[in-house]
Amino acid sequence: MSGKCYRSELIGLFGCPVDENATVAIMEAAFKELGLNYRYNTTLVYPKDLETAVKALKAFNMKGTHITIPHKVEVLQYLDHLSETAALMGAVNTIYLKDGETYGENTDGKGFITSLAEAGVEFKGKKTVLLGAGGAARAMSVELAAAGVSDILVVNRGEERGKALADLLNGKTASNAEYVSWAGTFRVPDDTDIVVNATSIGMHPDSNKPDIDYSSLLDSMIVCDGVHNPVQTPFLKEAAKRGCRTLDGFSMLINQGAISFKLWTGLDAPVDVMKKALERELN
Ligand code: NDP
Repeated sequence: MSGKCYRSELIGLFGCPVDENATVAIMEAAFKELGLNYRYNTTLVYPKDLETAVKALKAFNMKGTHITIPHKVEVLQYLDHLSETAALMGAVNTIYLKDGETYGENTDGKGFITSLAEAGVEFKGKKTVLLGAGGAARAMSVELAAAGVSDILVVNRGEERGKALADLLNGKTASNAEYVSWAGTFRVPDDTDIVVNATSIGMHPDSNKPDIDYSSLLDSMIVCDGVHNPVQTPFLKEAAKRGCRTLDGFSMLINQGAISFKLWTGLDAPVDVMKKALERELN
């Protein structure tokens, strides 16, 4: 026995990790690339056990964890600290530990904004149509508002969630938001700059596309999808046919993972390696 300690640093994913192979592949590839003795574990946590699971982060000396469905909102009450935007969104997708205390952050929207910025998109004064009002929509729209978009039209099937998001954006950000009920085919207004699908429509194995009038998409618009599998969703294919610039959920997933990685490890994520790992996983 050398007496050397071979234990790995642990990073987790708490929730209902049914299809999280993509995130595992990305993270494990990044650890390997940087020679880090870290492991990324997915853990099924039931709602009744969430508080205990968050306490266990400290007991197990973990670096942190991703949080997924259905815990992104409930988890807030169990954390020692929250970032300003996570508090504003009311949702956390990343916990990291510092000096034995838990910090909640939301990197979903930040990853999305990074992807748009990398594509050269400017935000100031832009008008956005946001399809959906769930967790991803909240994260994406709060970050869009923080980046300077002027108007956000929240189009959602469920009125309660749609109105609540529009109220949040109007009350807590500088953007003007309006809720539109998604009853029947939605026509995108001509003066829209950015169209975002933040619903789960089109996520494998679903092959549907959001019910919008695709002839209302103009080639001046940039059209984005939060769905990462498949990368080229039916929604993005339709938009590309109409000459729109498109942005897929693949780059958003990589970028949110890269931001979380930095919070956990303090290191810049090897983004190219992570992209290749995700491509392999999706193929
Ligand atoms: P939620 O369950 O919180 O929200 C789902 C949203 O989709 C709701 O607005 C819901 O509307 C809407 N919706 C679902 N089905 C339909 C339908 N048939 N017709 C109209 N609206 C529908 O999920 P999330 O917000 O957490 O996730 C949404 C998507 O974003 C997922 O596909 C997820 O994978 C993706 N995502 C991608 C990330 C990335 O990094 N690429 C990061 C996070 C999420 P209603 O309120 O009416 O039910």
